[in-house]
Amino acid sequence: MDNYDAKEIEEKWRNWWEKERIYKFNPNSKKKIFSIDTPPPTVSGKMHIGHAYMYSQMDFIARFRRMSGLNVFYPFGTDDNGLPTERLIEKLKNVKSKSMKREEFIKLCLKTLKEITPGFIQDWKILGISADYDIYYSTIDDNSRKLAQKSFIDLYKKGLIYKKLFPTLWCPECQTSVAQAELEDKELPSLFSTLKFSADGKDLLIATTRPELLGACVAVFVHPKDKRYANLIGKKAKVPLFNSEVPIIADESADMEKGTGVLMICSYGDKYDAEAINRHRLEPRIVLNLDGTLKIKPYEELKVKEARKKILEELKEKNLITEQKQISHSVNTHDKCGTEIEFLPTEQWFIKILDKKRKFIEQGNKIKWHPEFMHKRYDNWVNGLEWDWNISRDRHFGVSMPVWQCEKCKEIIIANEKELPVDPSEIKKKCPKCKSEAEAEEKVFDTWMTSSISPQIASSLIDKKVKIPFSLRPQAHDIIRTWLFYTITKSLLQEDKLPWENAMISGFVTLSGEKMSKSKGNVILPQEVMEKYSADTLRFWAAGSKLGEDLDYQEKDIITGKKFETKLWNASKFVLMNLKDYNHKKPKALMKIDELFLRKLNSLVKSVTEGFENYEYSKAKIEVEKFFWQIFCDNYLEIVKKRIYNNKKGKESAQYTLYTSLLAILKLMAPIMPFITEEIYQENFKKFEDEKSIHISEWPEYEKIEKADEFDLFTEILGKIRQEKSNNKKAMNAEIMLSFDEKDYNKLKEMLEDLKDVSNAKEIKRGKFNVEFC
Ligand SMILES: [Zn+2]
Ligand SMILES: [Zn+2]
Repeated sequence: MDNYDAKEIEEKWRNWWEKERIYKFNPNSKKKIFSIDTPPPTVSGKMHIGHAYMYSQMDFIARFRRMSGLNVFYPFGTDDNGLPTERLIEKLKNVKSKSMKREEFIKLCLKTLKEITPGFIQDWKILGISADYDIYYSTIDDNSRKLAQKSFIDLYKKGLIYKKLFPTLWCPECQTSVAQAELEDKELPSLFSTLKFSADGKDLLIATTRPELLGACVAVFVHPKDKRYANLIGKKAKVPLFNSEVPIIADESADMEKGTGVLMICSYGDKYDAEAINRHRLEPRIVLNLDGTLKIKPYEELKVKEARKKILEELKEKNLITEQKQISHSVNTHDKCGTEIEFLPTEQWFIKILDKKRKFIEQGNKIKWHPEFMHKRYDNWVNGLEWDWNISRDRHFGVSMPVWQCEKCKEIIIANEKELPVDPSEIKKKCPKCKSEAEAEEKVFDTWMTSSISPQIASSLIDKKVKIPFSLRPQAHDIIRTWLFYTITKSLLQEDKLPWENAMISGFVTLSGEKMSKSKGNVILPQEVMEKYSADTLRFWAAGSKLGEDLDYQEKDIITGKKFETKLWNASKFVLMNLKDYNHKKPKALMKIDELFLRKLNSLVKSVTEGFENYEYSKAKIEVEKFFWQIFCDNYLEIVKKRIYNNKKGKESAQYTLYTSLLAILKLMAPIMPFITEEIYQENFKKFEDEKSIHISEWPEYEKIEKADEFDLFTEILGKIRQEKSNNKKAMNAEIMLSFDEKDYNKLKEMLEDLKDVSNAKEIKRGKFNVEFC
């Protein structure tokens, strides 16, 4: 065993695990199944550090469960339909999806995915993620499309899906409707201008941040109790610049405190406007095109912001602004592109969810959340729901909706299950009622429509289906409102079930406290960290924070892992050198200090096991780390060194203890650092143990916990001796005469020979603690 060459060794085991199918799921095993609803990473570039962080944490649990004797079902998927993938393909191939024919773009996407997906997945393998990569799905493959379309048909037949022309959340950049879950609140500066409307021959002042919507103004609201405007109710107001006349309506939603207390209602400034217009049955005036330009003269083709600027200039010129101030307010933006969201009436498909909030809360209560506080985020999201789930998107690349509509009588025709997966544009249908031609629906599904049935998709990949609910859903917290919520929704609506029993939610990685982003340029690439250090050290780092907590990336933490890796290697080398003549038999009686040390090990196994069982892998890691450095290396190895070197009485006892404890430490660390532990196991333990890989070997057991106070006393006195030596600038092996307290002396009576060895004491006497140099 030479120096540890992480690069070579990690590659060796990665290939071997794959070749030997170490992580293969065995559907015929009698063991209890532990099923994981693995998150399918979005194919939108390369694995990022957040991925590495979250997937490592999930893998700790998977590896622990596997070694604990469970049959781990751990599929792997990629999410490769929808906007992020479209954007990637547009970038890679330098095309614009909307200016291509749909079929051509889809073909290009599928072809490109085929090229890039294996390389994309390779990063997960390099990180040591122990999924069964043979149980693989892509959210755009035939089986996933089929199941997504089938879930649509099921819900449609249950009356849970409707289509409606409705002002919906719309991204003018991506030119598609979006769901509430895709909104990102951004605090943005804005100009709050007070404008001169007129009514009853007088100025009527209204403050707004969106003067470009003046042309879309259909009413103004005042509060019914607002005495200032009581005389105007029922009259008309004249819109500045456009000179159109709109009704002045009393509505309790008008806030007397805000601005001038008069509210302009536009089609559509926000959801509030949409509801207000609906409530008062006002006729909307749509001034925006779907690409976010204005469609009214003389502002045609100006984008919202340009139009705003121009209109403000004109208002100023005509002296129609009385006051302007800079404010900062919260704006809805699209999470995929950062563009401000508009409300535009388009025809979209929705799943009814708003009437089931109570039921969703109940489902959430039945799931075990790790950590528990993430449950609250789910509840908050459900309680704050304002829209039904918009499942249709006006994009090219996605799972098509299995729907046609009669041109004439508007009858909706749904695909037969036998036709699935179907692209409706490839099949001509006639209306069953009036026999006219039916038109294929061109919209595609929201990508969550497919990924929300990930347990069903994964389960369908093997002959003997894995039961739902799965054991575990691992994921990051940012997609509680989407992936997690929608999966619960689908399982509830389709099968009246829970999708899983446990949810483990990971935090984010930050850099100097800030979220990493390519645009800010503060990005750490996991590939580079693994190349420079090792996958094991990156995983070691990922175990450095509690589940659910964010972790700031600092290279020094990676270096701590590297040091641990090196020390584990060197200490093992040392131990194994001393086991060359070990007979692999447990001696009849162990030396006292060995017995005590094994008790300490027993306590470690207990708390590490409980740590992993409770998803507290960081606690497990810290304890192994501490035990290894302080108890194993600094003390125990030093204590037994001479006994083995000098072939003293109790040599076999030390060898047995070293073998047993090193193997246990390796196993306890195997979920976190799978590569180095495998290397040491393979080289030194495999020939004496049953299993061909440490990762399918048995997790160490623990017995009743017994005290090992005398071990602590021993190391405490040893510590004091070392301190004395260093205070006197003596070498650690300097020879001494030692005396210490009689009570302690009696307690350590059986271990005095070991104490002599390790402290190089010529003699030990009872008395006041004293170290005398010879
Ligand atoms: Zn967008
Ligand atoms: Zn018809």
